[in-house]
Amino acid sequence: MPSEPDAPNTALDRLDQRIIEALAERQKLIDQATDLETTPGTQWMDSRNEQECLTRLAEQGAATDLDAHFVTRVFREILQHTSRRQQRVLLDSRGPGQGSAEALIVGFQGTHGAYSHIAATQHFATRHAQVSCKGYTSFQGMLEGLSNSETDYAVLPIENTTAGSINAAYDALARMNLALVGEEVVRVEHCLLALEPLPISHIRRVYSHPQALDQCSVFLNSLNDCEAHAFTDTAMAARRLRDDQDLSEAAIASEEAARLYGLTVIKQGIANQKQNFTRFVIVARDSVRFDPGIPCKTSIIFATRHEEGALATCLNVLANHHLNLSKLESRPRPNTPWEYLFYADFDGNMAEEQVEQGLRDLAAQTSFLKILGSYPSCLLKSTEANEPSGTRPRAVTGAGTVRLPTPAAGTQPTPDILQTLEKKPYRLVSRVNRLEDTVLRVGSVSIGGDRPVIIAGPCSVESREQVMACAERVRALGGHILRGGCFKPRTSPYAFQGLGLEGLELLAEAGQAHGLPIITEVLHPADVEDVAAQADILQIGTRNMQNYALLKEVGRVDRPVLLKRGMMASIDEWLGAAEYVLAQGNQQVILCERGIRTFETATRSTLDLSAIPVVRERTHLPIIVDPSHACGTWRWVADLTAAALACRAHGVMVEIHPEPAKALSDGPQSLDFDRFGELMERIHQPEGDAAS
Ligand code: PEP
Ligand code: MN
Repeated sequence: MPSEPDAPNTALDRLDQRIIEALAERQKLIDQATDLETTPGTQWMDSRNEQECLTRLAEQGAATDLDAHFVTRVFREILQHTSRRQQRVLLDSRGPGQGSAEALIVGFQGTHGAYSHIAATQHFATRHAQVSCKGYTSFQGMLEGLSNSETDYAVLPIENTTAGSINAAYDALARMNLALVGEEVVRVEHCLLALEPLPISHIRRVYSHPQALDQCSVFLNSLNDCEAHAFTDTAMAARRLRDDQDLSEAAIASEEAARLYGLTVIKQGIANQKQNFTRFVIVARDSVRFDPGIPCKTSIIFATRHEEGALATCLNVLANHHLNLSKLESRPRPNTPWEYLFYADFDGNMAEEQVEQGLRDLAAQTSFLKILGSYPSCLLKSTEANEPSGTRPRAVTGAGTVRLPTPAAGTQPTPDILQTLEKKPYRLVSRVNRLEDTVLRVGSVSIGGDRPVIIAGPCSVESREQVMACAERVRALGGHILRGGCFKPRTSPYAFQGLGLEGLELLAEAGQAHGLPIITEVLHPADVEDVAAQADILQIGTRNMQNYALLKEVGRVDRPVLLKRGMMASIDEWLGAAEYVLAQGNQQVILCERGIRTFETATRSTLDLSAIPVVRERTHLPIIVDPSHACGTWRWVADLTAAALACRAHGVMVEIHPEPAKALSDGPQSLDFDRFGELMERIHQPEGDAAS
């Protein structure tokens, strides 16, 4: 029997009850609005409003001292629930199975507890009808079951963010005459399950689906004396574990499977990639016409004509109709060797005139076109990457929208400047190669646009508490990216050298906990792969700016690189170093001015502010400034930050520490949290107020 809650809990319980009541009231309001809006032609709450809504709520949260990241997460969940509920109502009123809604049957491939089953329940959970799920052993069997009216819908996994497209699903869609009426995104969280709480070292055999085994390869390789066995699906592996009753066995499956089969989760989050999602499509016998007010995605299959540039022609048709392509996949065309079928998803609803016209024009350019359907897209996927950038929290009251100053007239490179640039020993980084500024995306953060980016964090990652505290402050004060050194280039070999990959784990954990991308320095070419697996941006320090082996190595990975200026390097030598990275294929370089060696000894280095306009003239790459390493003392960091932004640097990187006096490196130049707060307040001051 549950025990009586004690006094402080009673107040909390009452508060929780009020939250539940408010949610129920919200749901009632939504349902009333939805009832009205099922009339075709009316506008439903659309995704653009959702983004604005999240931004507004995050700001309200920040104003009442609530962590804006937390507010965003909670409301994203609530808004997602609303949009699902609305979509379901529409499916009920116009979709297949309408009228027989009480006995809705949804097919999925696998056993109860498999991720497909989770997708089916998640998607149909908010339906008013009673939903039962029917498992099939194959995609083919499941889709045939749908064709034969054994089921009303089928849930088909189409792509995974780690493993990529699921070919068998695409091939089945091409073969059969079915329609897509929805989609669902499920976060795949692999856990290690056992019969009871056991030490991992007792496990000798692990069962799971081959893809799940693959996705957890790093963890599996770390186990001694343990074999992996492939199973038809993750839930089946869990069931086998329950049936075998062997304590030396384990399975990789979802937490839901553990619950269903009475097993114990002995380790969570064992996948190589922390962010792992699968996208499912909801298949029906007939397509559904969704109201033009609902933001939809359209999926098509096409084959090109035997003409030169045929694929480009088809894609141009979509582009000319402003149909934004979100996915393009090719598969072999059955019975016609060396020909391909293309699968494309684009934003748009067939019920809109523009999309209809686009598809007509596309048909004229193809040798085959099959429209799979238009359906409401999962816009608020629970991926951090999709967090609207406007949800940046600001504890600073009255802060305006921060923008870089407008460029002075005549800052566009003139033909004679471009002519001079043509003679430089760099090409790819040059304005000659690209006139527009390069804007890089890191999660939801853009670097190189007209909003400055604030990177902050400790010089070195020292402990979980230290890096967590920094991350919490960076997020709460409106910073965008968390920094933290793990491999430290120290002048003395006896000084603290950093926590290495263990430190990187802590940095990644802190970034994840507070919704911040992370940046860390990589010192050795051999470490690039490991660091790139965890860090969102790779930093090349001043001492390594001309380490060409390292530059080439980071040029081979698909990760943005922050290239610090060598303390003895000219601007052109620096751009030459950036060229090394771009020449290897990686076009994502951010330059960072961090001070150069001069005769001046009052500051640690001399911050070369003039490098900012020069660099912006010569290259399209973004440039940020690190005032902390430039001046070497926290006292001048805020002034230099303001100066850098006034010179139109695309952002700044500053060092902060909960207790600078105790820092293991660069304490004197690190801002404590109050000083960092003051700096952020100054940055966010509306234009015109700065002088008062
Ligand atoms: C750093 O940013 O951690 C660092 C070591 O800086 P720099 O390479 O500019 O000295
Ligand atoms: Mn430092």
